[in-house]
Amino acid sequence: MISESEFHLDRSSVRLEELIGDGLFGNVYRGSYVDVRLKRHSVAVKVCRVDNDSQDLHTSNKYLLEEAYTMQQFRHPHIIKLLGICSGPSISSSDESESDSGTVSTNNNNNNNIPAFGVWMVMELAPFGEMRQYLQREKSIIDLSVQILFAKQIASAVTYLHSRAFVHRDIAARNVLVTNSRCVKLSDFGMSKLLAEEEVYTSSSGKLPIKWMAPESLNFRKFTTQSDVYSLGVCIWEILMHGIKPWQGIRNHEVIKKIEVGEILQRPSECPLAVYDMLRAMWVIDEYLRITAIETTHFLEHLLEEIDDGKNF
Ligand code: ATP
Repeated sequence: MISESEFHLDRSSVRLEELIGDGLFGNVYRGSYVDVRLKRHSVAVKVCRVDNDSQDLHTSNKYLLEEAYTMQQFRHPHIIKLLGICSGPSISSSDESESDSGTVSTNNNNNNNIPAFGVWMVMELAPFGEMRQYLQREKSIIDLSVQILFAKQIASAVTYLHSRAFVHRDIAARNVLVTNSRCVKLSDFGMSKLLAEEEVYTSSSGKLPIKWMAPESLNFRKFTTQSDVYSLGVCIWEILMHGIKPWQGIRNHEVIKKIEVGEILQRPSECPLAVYDMLRAMWVIDEYLRITAIETTHFLEHLLEEIDDGKNF
């Protein structure tokens, strides 16, 4: 966990460059951040949306702060790292772009569409962007070994979260980012929750990712480490399908009916039987009989070793 003073960054040390994504509460910009040692970092900055009225702005800020406080607790090679947040006014008033010492200036956010107030979440940048698009774009070079590598990395991130009593609640390919051709990272902690003692989080409202949800989440809004495993299975299925979303063309209420009668996603054409068996073990209706995130990670590690040893599937 980073200290309070490290967590708060001066807004003038962050430069926003280009809009790269938008979410419900914030727009995401590519940019740079210059730390106290004058080292420059490529970053992604989530900024509260400007089209909101003041009430919504307050909600967006609260939401971004909550997400940031969650993210700052994690240190894992496959979880997007939060560098800090900007919440107060800029300390520096300089607008110069380059100083005499050759160090970079930082206050270059003159774009009127970017609010210079409200919370900014400053995160490590995933230069290759969203995994779904990456899987589609690079389909020709992504083989089973890369798919299993990505699956293993996400499973290890989920294992880490569970070991710290967190549930992510929104594991899906759209929430995984690619930092290089052999590394993906879990992001979007807007729905994550620290589990209470009873190890169940019951949600009452909000937009829900129906097609990724476990039966007990659909029926009782019950979110646990086991329901995360179910969603992780759907996310791995998306990887094996090269970024295709689950239950394409089927409406949410129809999907709920399918899940109720025990229907599961079909085996992707190139998916080895052993991997589909693993997915089925992740989608067992009785949550207590489902495999765990750590078991999934170990299985995928073992499989990867076999693939590296040249075994065919
Ligand atoms: P919300 O949680 O508000 O619903 P969301 O789920 O759409 O938002 P965000 O986390 O807001 O997702 O990110 C929106 C988009 O911005 C992502 O889909 C991705 O394209 C881009 N993005 C977010 N974080 C990063 C990052 N660290 N590196 C690169 N791109 C990012």
